[in-house]
Order: sequence, then structure tokens, then C-alpha cells
Amino acid sequence: MLQQTQVKTVIPYFNKFTKKFKTLKSLAKSNEKEILKMWEGLGYYRRARNLLACSKILVKNYKSKLPDTINEIKKLPGVGEYTANALLSLVHDKPRIAVDGNVKRVFSRNLNQEEIKINFEKLIEKNKKKLFVTNRNADFVEALMEFGALVCKPKDPNCLTCCLNKSCKYFKSNKKIKSIKNKMIKNKDYNIFCYLNKKKQIALTKNSQIGFLKNFNLPEIKEANGFSKKHNWKFLKNYKNSISNLKLNINLYYKFSNKIPPMFSWYSLKENKEFVPSFTKKIFRQVSTLF
Ligand code: SF4
Repeated sequence: MLQQTQVKTVIPYFNKFTKKFKTLKSLAKSNEKEILKMWEGLGYYRRARNLLACSKILVKNYKSKLPDTINEIKKLPGVGEYTANALLSLVHDKPRIAVDGNVKRVFSRNLNQEEIKINFEKLIEKNKKKLFVTNRNADFVEALMEFGALVCKPKDPNCLTCCLNKSCKYFKSNKKIKSIKNKMIKNKDYNIFCYLNKKKQIALTKNSQIGFLKNFNLPEIKEANGFSKKHNWKFLKNYKNSISNLKLNINLYYKFSNKIPPMFSWYSLKENKEFVPSFTKKIFRQVSTLF
């Protein structure tokens, strides 16, 4: 839940989720519709699907236990290098480091080298005897991430009181590296098209290929110019939104029509019991102003 999402946003979802699913087995017995409903508003719905899929695999193939080797753990849906290392260290207390942005910054500053020039995997492997000197690896990994977040902060690190300042090359150097790398910002244009009817219904499809909003279920077409005029679509609103390193420019179009393409179904704008992501809800509210 915490991937790309702040702790304060996650807390109510986490509490509700763990109250409902007290064991891995109870989660594994659930289904996608139920999970997505509980995840509604949290975004990045692939996480919910992967979590459900993982629970089913762990119950079926691993006697409800998390495997303790990197190769086995990485076979689970949605588990890449970072998550695998985090799980191995936090759950199994293995000497592994989950290299997130905070950890990268701590290493990069200590070496006074740009993050982009460091191979973190090699660096950790080479220095594992110096790094893993405790038998509390889980605490060490968590502390390292917290150290980056609270002491070796992106801006104004607390160098004067830092316990590493005697060896830290960044602190001692007159030529300090800029460890905050600018993310490559990508701009994306989306055009969303809503069919509406006089019964206050909106047409949705389950087959949307809408890239960043796979659950969105509204038709999306890349080129609005020409298409919108030719097919009598009316412009309603522009949204600007940022997700991670994506800058989105979204144009919303609508038209009233009784005919919809075959793969579409009508859904009530008010009494929709289906799982609806929060941005889709926003659009529901916007098109509701047309009635
Ligand atoms: S001395 Fe400063 S830059 Fe170096 S690790 Fe500590 S807080 Fe970070």
C-alpha cells in the first residue's frame, strides 16, 4: 500500500484491510471485486491485484509461508528486486538492503558520488562484511531508510549532529555532489470520451486500454482533434494531474446518445455499485452537472 503513497493516506486503508483479512488464508479466499472495492481511492490498483494473487499462491504452493530465497520470492506477482530485498530483510531478517531513494542518498552522500554513477548492488556486495555487522538485519534495514528520511534528508541534512559525519565524504568535501537527481518528467495527453443518456447513465467498457488508468472503463482516444468535431463530441473540462514522473493533460469530452458501441454497457451515475476509481468518480461528478 505504501508504494507511491504517503503513510497518512494509507493508515485508514491498512486498518480496514487488516481488520477484514486477519490471516493470509482469509485474504486468499477473497476475490478481485471485493479487494478493489476496499482499495477504492488508494490508486495503483495493480498492487491490490498482485497482493491477492500472491496470497493465493502462498497458500496453495508455500503452506502460507513467505519463501526465504531471492529467486523464489521474485517469482511472486509484483515482487521485483526492491520488494524481494525488503521482504527478505524485514520478514526473514536476512542480510539484504532494500535500496529506496533514501538509502541511495545516504550511500551517495557518504561516497560523495552521484547516484547515477553508483552500482548499488555491487557496492553492497563488496561491503557486506562492513555493512551487516548486526544479527538484527531487519532493524538495520529499517533504520537505514529512516536515517535517510530523517537525518540525511534531501534538503538540509543534519550533518552537524550526524553520527556518520567523521567518515562522510559529502560532509568533509568542499566540492559537494548534488545527490538530488531530477526525475525525467514525461508529458502525456489523454482524451476521455463519455457517452451519456437522459436516464443519467454513462457508458463504460471493461475493455479499456487506457494505459495509466486500466480500470477507468471510459473510452480514450489519443487524437481528439478532428475526431471530436466529426463525431459531435463536446469538450467539457481539462484536468492537469501528476502521477510520479508523469505530467498528465486530460481532456474530457461528452455526447448524449442512445446508441453505444457493442462492448459498452450503461451504468447509473448515482447508483453504481461497481468498483469505481477516484478519478472516474470525479468525472462522474463532472458529467452529472450536465443534467
Ligand atoms: S554527514 Fe550529512 S551528508 Fe553525511 S551522512 Fe550524515 S547527514 Fe548525510
